Amino acid sequence: MLALTFLGTGAACPTVERNVSALAVQREGETLLFDCGEGTQRQMMRYGVGFSFRELFFTHYHSDHLLGVMGLFRTMGLMDRKEGVTLYGPKGAQRILGNALAVGIERTRLPFEIVEVKPGDRLGRGEYEIAVFATEHRADTVGYALVEHDRLGRFDPDRARALGIPEGPLWGQIHKGKPVTLGDGRVISPAELVGPARPGRTVVISGDTRPHAALIAAAKGADLLVHEATFGEDERERAVETGHSTAREAAQVAAEAGVRRLVLTHISARYTRDAPELLAEAQALFAETVVARDGLTVEVPYPDRVATVS
Ligand SMILES: [Zn+2]
Ligand SMILES: [Zn+2]
Repeated sequence: MLALTFLGTGAACPTVERNVSALAVQREGETLLFDCGEGTQRQMMRYGVGFSFRELFFTHYHSDHLLGVMGLFRTMGLMDRKEGVTLYGPKGAQRILGNALAVGIERTRLPFEIVEVKPGDRLGRGEYEIAVFATEHRADTVGYALVEHDRLGRFDPDRARALGIPEGPLWGQIHKGKPVTLGDGRVISPAELVGPARPGRTVVISGDTRPHAALIAAAKGADLLVHEATFGEDERERAVETGHSTAREAAQVAAEAGVRRLVLTHISARYTRDAPELLAEAQALFAETVVARDGLTVEVPYPDRVATVS
């Protein structure tokens, strides 16, 4: 299972309808958090995202992406949690995140580690990696792509039985790409029973940014692109001035990268909850678009399965 829960989808300041930026990515029982605006801990409780995450990735340190980390870490410390958390962020990570977590007179009890990342870094994990790419937002910023490794090809059990290969460890060996020798001397090569490797899934998170070539490259063929759309085309100048994107620009990025689906987030408070004008503007260029709202969960299926949004 790979699913995203939008914990905060508003730009700059919290409103009644939208909290500021935070996004939980849940993959096979593991939770990763991206950005942590003020009030994120309550959003996690409200939308059923547990505090068991071990990694928190910052796209940048504007306060609408940062201020929630103090409260969240205090609470996790009070819960006597022993497992530490690693915080990742662009240039300035040690100073800014270190200072944030030192606010207040009592020490943060939660053990943590801070790692500075830069565009081009690839953080290896068992079945996937986190690729860090450059963005453009009048500050030190990065975006992140979660890229799953290819999965094994499909194993054909009927054909295995027909060839007289006994069910058991030999099946596993062949599936993992090793030829096996049967009792009668026949050698069976994996190509006879196993299809081509199947691609994993890719989720790309823009953070705050103008449309950017590195982001388009990172999002090539992605299953899901989460792109900020702070403004509509009527506020294009303001988007350029403030280093943000319009909904139309986000859709252009999605189309150019050839992604499967686009979710718009980081919506300015001037738009209503469903932001129909932003949706229409984006869908004119890229049909598979939704506008995120707080609490939205988007599942990312393998390319051969059907998507659900709830
Ligand atoms: Zn922001
Ligand atoms: Zn920002």
